[in-house]
Amino acid sequence: MTTPIVTFEICRSCRKCCIFNEQELDEAPVITTDAKNCLMEQFPNEEIAFEPLGRMWRIVLHPTPVEHRWVCPFYDSQTARCRIQHLKPLGCVFYPFYVMRYQGRLVIATSRICPASTALDTTALVAYLRVGPGPLMVREARKHPDIVIDHREGIRILLEVHGDDLLPYDESGERSSGCES
Ligand code: SF4
Repeated sequence: MTTPIVTFEICRSCRKCCIFNEQELDEAPVITTDAKNCLMEQFPNEEIAFEPLGRMWRIVLHPTPVEHRWVCPFYDSQTARCRIQHLKPLGCVFYPFYVMRYQGRLVIATSRICPASTALDTTALVAYLRVGPGPLMVREARKHPDIVIDHREGIRILLEVHGDDLLPYDESGERSSGCES
């Protein structure tokens, strides 16, 4: 998404978030049944497929000429834009942030490849998330638990979810009273 920290220019010049390597396949966009049905109607002549994921659907990625790289079928490489802005999957709306499961905790983490978020320190990102999209991300994750993915090594955790609070990530895990997974 373009936001005060991820400007349109940065976003457009990168677009790595629409291209996936082997470790990122579980980040392929996930959509609701209604959105899937709309997309099937809107793109009847394209090779677009979805695989079930709980109560939602994961968009099947297309292989690219580059080995071990896949691309979202809704990515337009000519314009470097998403073709489904009107039905954009939640994970893409919230990018470069994710709601993740980590050691029994629900956390908000940030991409290791987005040039905008990697350029900012944790304090700035935490401040932005707490007054910005963080609470909405948690509400949507609770409504659609299938969009929550497992944390992977190297992904920077910023916040932990405790009830309605978003607290700075406590690496020691001492604050955790358990679990929302
Ligand atoms: S749905 Fe749009 S923003 Fe999301 S990965 Fe596909 S092209 Fe990119």
